[in-house]
Parts: sequence; structure tokens; C-alpha cells
Amino acid sequence: MQDNLEKPVLNALNENYSRERSFSFMENIYLPEIFKALWYTLKQMFSPKFTMQYPEEKWEPPAIFRGRPVLVEDEGQERCVACGLCARACPPLAISMQANEDSDDPKERYPDFFEINMLRCIYCGYCEEVCPEEAIVMSKDYDIVFESREEAIYDKERLLVPKEDLKERLDYLKNYRNQQFGQFWDFQEENNIHSVRDRDRDWNTGLSLVDMLEQQKKNDAEEATSTWS
Ligand code: SF4
Ligand code: SF4
Repeated sequence: MQDNLEKPVLNALNENYSRERSFSFMENIYLPEIFKALWYTLKQMFSPKFTMQYPEEKWEPPAIFRGRPVLVEDEGQERCVACGLCARACPPLAISMQANEDSDDPKERYPDFFEINMLRCIYCGYCEEVCPEEAIVMSKDYDIVFESREEAIYDKERLLVPKEDLKERLDYLKNYRNQQFGQFWDFQEENNIHSVRDRDRDWNTGLSLVDMLEQQKKNDAEEATSTWS
């Protein structure tokens, strides 16, 4: 113990301590390193390129990509029932909405207004995770530009996208969620009474669930039209 205390200690406060290592002659003249860097640059000039000439060239993201959150439009109506779960789960409080009810409509609740402040959104996908109706999903849209704060607030009209244009993401979610949660989470569109009612274009509110499913099959067989790009 006593011996150890008498030995000089190697630390940065000791004047014998040297932080710098000594360079060899070749390192001191820098030339080999410069030629190595030039050789590396030359090699890169002929290697395959991973960059794109954006915006002339657009990247097509895969289904797993989380771009701008959008509302799913099912047969001309939003699937959203304004339950508020997504707004509750959103970490930066980017979502706001007001629920409304219309007794003449077979659909009980819908969002009177639904807004996402894209200046706040962090593309976390929590809204999509918690939505019980698969009414809000992450789209492939990453080309998001605005010139003022007001423009960055996307209202319901700008958020709604027909489900046909979101098919890839909806299919991905079905596979992903089913694998992740197994028997505990298996979203089945046909079990969603709300969605089934939405597809009842003839507003037959008195239909039984079995009849509504038949109606749904008939409607789904018709060719879908979409204007969203
Ligand atoms: S992606 Fe995340 S931050 Fe953006 S609206 Fe959804 S929950 Fe909020
Ligand atoms: S998008 Fe989904 S979670 Fe959000 S309010 Fe509508 S139904 Fe509820």
C-alpha cells in the first residue's frame, strides 16, 4: 500500500504525462494520406450511386414507411368516429378534433373538424397504432411543403384519402398487427359494424348484419374510383 503511494501516477495533471503520440516521418509529410484520400474519391466516382436527382426523381417508399398521417375515406366517408384516442396518444399534441352526431345518418359519430398540425407531427405512428377503426394511417407522402404556419395545419379535406390509395399500407398493417399481437389483435374489417354500415350506400339502416355483409360484398365488387394522387 505504502509502495503504491510513492510511485508516480500517470494522469493528465502529472507533468510527465504526454497526451500526444509521436508521428512517423511518413505521417508527418501527410502525402501518403493525401494520396489515399484521392484514391478513395476516384473509386467512389465509379461505384454505384445511391443518391437521386430529387425532385425530378421521386422515391417510392415501401409499405413500412411512415409518411404523413392521413384519414381513411371509405365509400366517400371518413371511417373516423371521433373517439379521440389518436389525439390522446399523440406525443406532441398535434391532433385536434370535435365530435358530432347526426341522427339522420346511420353513422352515429363523425369528426366535425379534424386537424393535424404538421409542424408538430413527429411521424411516430402512435395515432395509427391506437385507432380502433383503422381510420388514420401513415401514408407514403413525404413531400410536405408549406409557406406559413396556417398552411401547416391540415384539415379533414386535406387529410382524407380513399382507402383504395392506401391499400398497400392497410394490407401491411393487417399482416404486421396480426403477427405482432396474434390472437389478441386481429383487425377484421368485416367485424367492424361501423365500416359495414358506411358501405351501405343505400342507407338501409334496418339491415341485419348478415344483410349488410352481403351489401358490402356487392359494393366492394364494384370498381373503385379515386381522384387522390
Ligand atoms: S404520427 Fe405521431 S406525432 Fe404525428 S399525428 Fe400521429 S401520433 Fe401525432
Ligand atoms: S382517427 Fe381513429 S383514434 Fe382518432 S378519433 Fe378517429 S377513430 Fe378515434
